[in-house]
Amino acid sequence: MSDNAVIDRLAVIGCGLIGGSVARAAKASGAAKTVIVTDRSPQVRQRVREIGASFADQVAETAAEAAENADLVIIAVPVGACGAVASEIAAHLKDGAILSDVGSVKSSVVRDMVPFVPPHVHFIPAHPVAGTENSGPDAGFAELFVNRWCILTPVDGTATPATQTLQAFWEKLGANVQLMTPEHHDLVLAITSHLPHLIAYTIVGTANDLGEVTESEVLKFSAGGFRDFTRIAASDPTMWRDVFLHNKKAVLEMLGTFKEDLAQLTRAIRRGDGDALFNHFAKTRAIRRGIVDIGQDSAAPDFGRKPAPLPIAPIARPYAMDDD
Ligand code: NAP
Repeated sequence: MSDNAVIDRLAVIGCGLIGGSVARAAKASGAAKTVIVTDRSPQVRQRVREIGASFADQVAETAAEAAENADLVIIAVPVGACGAVASEIAAHLKDGAILSDVGSVKSSVVRDMVPFVPPHVHFIPAHPVAGTENSGPDAGFAELFVNRWCILTPVDGTATPATQTLQAFWEKLGANVQLMTPEHHDLVLAITSHLPHLIAYTIVGTANDLGEVTESEVLKFSAGGFRDFTRIAASDPTMWRDVFLHNKKAVLEMLGTFKEDLAQLTRAIRRGDGDALFNHFAKTRAIRRGIVDIGQDSAAPDFGRKPAPLPIAPIARPYAMDDD
């Protein structure tokens, strides 16, 4: 129990990468005095019980049971399931409770959840912009949100006391918080997250389908850039199916712009326009340096991967030497 907790009773519904990280971070930081979690899968609930106190104080059998008496309820399931979970817990939310989520898309989550939010509950959607390609209860860790952004999209757009409480909660987990509208969030994330994932899913599929390049060659020479796409393309299929189905408009808009830019680069290659290629690559290199400068990634070469040690060949000695 922490004396400077932001929340008395936190309920997390969905114990995957993000829900598991929120629960662990709330426990480790003392942001919540009591953490109750649940998941629809009995195997996941069992696994959380095995992990124990570093994850949660209590594992509830149902979402409704977890939400009962909670001051903050965070729904951490794929965006397509948020509406159904909201309807399941609505009647169990206490007066003045804050209801939030972590979904990667905001407009559709607002549309699907708002009809079920009782008038005595503060609904503040959220999206922590942090993650890995792993899923499930073992994938989460308490430090996931440190120095990452968490975007809050309060439905009325104003900084109410409940919004300030949720902001303080995320800050206690180490995140920086910014407020924006759900629509603006979806546009920004379409270009910074959703489109890159779509490109990674495409390029990994394309490489796999290439007849002239064997699968073993694709794997063997993957360090040439392809490997970093494969990490993104290993992300959870359910989550990403839901992201593209629920952020269709913004993703299609960004995809249109992307195709135009790709056509320009294609033309530059075809015409041998080295200046156009050089200028474009110089601009993108500056963007990467900007990301490092604001602390959103490491400046270490190759994303900080450790090089393997240099193989040391035994030295052939032409004559016998003393060891000293
Ligand atoms: P995850 O590791 O797959 O965990 C999702 C959990 O929710 C699973 O345990 C799943 O159970 C459970 N679940 C699914 N449908 C449910 C339902 N109807 N009722 C109750 N539980 C249900 O996924 P995640 O990466 O944590 O993603 C969760 C949310 O965070 C998504 O909305 C995603 O958009 C958002 N998000 C993800 C990332 C990221 O990088 N992964 C980053 C920021 C935000 P089953 O195993 O039984 O399906």
